[in-house]
Amino acid sequence: MGYGFDIVASIAGIGGPWEILAAVGDITQSLQFGPIKVALLVAWVFLCLYCAQRVAFSPLIAPDYKSLASVFCLVFGPLIFAVLAVADLTVKLQEGEITGRDILRYLFGNAFVGRKTLQNRTVRPEDYIELLDSAGKNFFEDIGNKDDQRAADQETLIVTREVVLQGIRGRASDILIDPKGVGAFTVRYRIDGVLHVVREISDDQGKGVVNSIKAISGMDISEKRRALDGSFMARISEGNVFFRVASSGVLGGEKLSLRILNQVTGMLKLDEVGISPEICATIREGLQQPSGMIVICGPTGSGKTTTLYAMLGEIDFFTRNVVTVEDPIEYVLPNVSQIEVNAKANITFANSLRSILRQDPDVICVGEIRDGETADMALQASHTGHLVLATLHSSSNLATLVRMMDLGIKPLMMASALSLVISQRLVRKLCEHCKQPAELDAETIDHLRKQGFDPSKVLAPVGCKKCNQTGYLGRTALVDVMRLDEEIKTILGGNQLSLGELKQKGDSMGRGNLKREGLRKVMAGLTTLDEVKRVVSSLG
Ligand SMILES: [Zn+2]
Repeated sequence: MGYGFDIVASIAGIGGPWEILAAVGDITQSLQFGPIKVALLVAWVFLCLYCAQRVAFSPLIAPDYKSLASVFCLVFGPLIFAVLAVADLTVKLQEGEITGRDILRYLFGNAFVGRKTLQNRTVRPEDYIELLDSAGKNFFEDIGNKDDQRAADQETLIVTREVVLQGIRGRASDILIDPKGVGAFTVRYRIDGVLHVVREISDDQGKGVVNSIKAISGMDISEKRRALDGSFMARISEGNVFFRVASSGVLGGEKLSLRILNQVTGMLKLDEVGISPEICATIREGLQQPSGMIVICGPTGSGKTTTLYAMLGEIDFFTRNVVTVEDPIEYVLPNVSQIEVNAKANITFANSLRSILRQDPDVICVGEIRDGETADMALQASHTGHLVLATLHSSSNLATLVRMMDLGIKPLMMASALSLVISQRLVRKLCEHCKQPAELDAETIDHLRKQGFDPSKVLAPVGCKKCNQTGYLGRTALVDVMRLDEEIKTILGGNQLSLGELKQKGDSMGRGNLKREGLRKVMAGLTTLDEVKRVVSSLG
């Protein structure tokens, strides 16, 4: 240890940089290399590198001087470290973030609360998170007054931040926090459409997390039974991420679900959704028409909204007046008038559409057709020279026509106003880093060969660190598109088929096409036979 103090003492005692460099040279010369000296040297280099990294994120150094400071750090590392530590502590003391007692606790290495506070300023960029209310105000700046209260709140806030941040970093689309009923809460993430339990938290902490999320989302904390909704924002190093929050009273307590509306990754383009080039071309052609209606259908969680936004992304917002009605607005689109449905304020899809039609739009986007009135108005709009994009909950392309008839739309109206129906499913994509050839049974091999596919191209999931041991990473869409051609128009116009027949025909046709599209992706090594079976049999 003696050498370490000597080095520090000799450097501290000298003024100009050249003298310091000379002194460092002397010291190096006087070192006869032995194990202790090598260890000291390694420790010195480590501290130098550590300081250089610290400097890069220190708020005390202006960006312009950061590279210069890094060079200094690499040379004089540990000294700068001491100076920065003292400066950091002084700033925190002045801002009242910590007390003298915290520093003492920190120095003696048992500052649970203090330590976390001290780390706040030196977090890695991927660990940085701030929770803001929907107006962008930092809500948790001054929680609690008393020391004990503050410590408890700090712990809750740390857990809340972790739950939110890990959700974002883990590519979750939803975070579910629900009471287990035995004095604990479970936190689950929905990743690529599948739920995973990620952690359990104690009852007290769970309630604390639920309350802090409700508070920041502008929800009434005292209301524990009635379903409420709200929203908040998380600021991470890449930008802001928006959350939509819903609460409901369940057996054993209160449940929260957080939908992550990711503004950071942005909207996908039409060819990034996983749609084949031919189908993309058909959709683009439909989008260029001045009028007509394009309906995307599929069950819940089939990626209809993502495709809807991808289609909107193809439209030039400057030359065409675009108005949307959505529930909720998932992406903010520049130069587009977006209306959010709000049942409490009596803003529904139907009455929004009525007001939109008075604004002379070119393109109207209806988030979801749920009732006859909305369906009727959307088709009327298409009929009177607007391009209408919409989603509908149904199982296949022809089943969509049946569903429209169920909603009271006349077949003739559909024949003249509908231009494209697209049905969609999402399958999980195989992880590129660990996928391997699959072992298939004789029956499957036989079945694939009969359909003209090569069974040796089928891959299976394995699981690695990159995909969280699931074998899957990301999702891709299976899409079947139907153009309303003369044949279908004749069927519709002549009412040659009964509703039941049409639905049956539609389901078997849709299943066939989606399955074929799925098998094509299996052959390309993008997904597995199980995934295709999982989503296509749900047509049922
Ligand atoms: Zn993997």
